[in-house]
Amino acid sequence: MLRIKGLSYDVGGRELFTTLDLDVRAGESVAITGPSGSGKSTLLSCVLGLVRPAGGTVEVAGTDVTRLRGAALARHRSSKIGMVFQFGELLPELSPVDNVALAALLAGVPKDTAYRRAHELLEELGVPLTGASEQLSGGERQRTAVARALINSPALLLADEPTGALDAVARERVADVLFAMPGRHDCGLLLVTHDPAVAARADRVLALGDGTLSKADDAGTGAR
Ligand code: ADP
Ligand code: MG
Repeated sequence: MLRIKGLSYDVGGRELFTTLDLDVRAGESVAITGPSGSGKSTLLSCVLGLVRPAGGTVEVAGTDVTRLRGAALARHRSSKIGMVFQFGELLPELSPVDNVALAALLAGVPKDTAYRRAHELLEELGVPLTGASEQLSGGERQRTAVARALINSPALLLADEPTGALDAVARERVADVLFAMPGRHDCGLLLVTHDPAVAARADRVLALGDGTLSKADDAGTGAR
């Protein structure tokens, strides 16, 4: 679902990635940890094609996103990738169903299908269907964001600190939902987290540091 080879990227004269490699298969979850500023969010931006690396390839579902531009890139992103941010980033005036369905409507899915699928996903993830999104709890907002990320059946689900703003109970529930998705929807999950307990639930835990990824030790820091 994701294959990164030899990724390099400089920011402000500093090499953020040197020759970074990463594979995420269908049905697999991979957690990335690493100190603040190590480039975790930038790595996800490279996968989304929002940041253009200096070198290397970033294949999402078999297509190198570093070679795509404009409308083709946007189309590939919306059909193959779902993204969950730290604070959900929902449209607060819209209902959860509208927020989730909107992502499908923007991808050209007919209205009936978009709303049916939005209902199904929110029910699966245990989010109340009525009311505005601003009335939801933090955990419900994040589960809505997961539903929105899944509505176009992405090959790859990305999450940047998805539990960073939640209390312990909501964190468990959102983590339950996220880690169930690779098995249930046959996507790959690439998740960035500071939380060792959340990271430990992934099939593999990698640490980003010194411009590259390495297998994390139990403390979540790189050990090579
Ligand atoms: P993390 O998510 O691991 O905390 P980021 O990917 O947000 O790290 O940032 C990595 C480094 O790159 C930071 O030092 C940040 O200041 C820098 N950086 C990220 N994006 C930009 C940008 N557009 N311009 C300049 N510096 C940037
Ligand atoms: Mg970040």
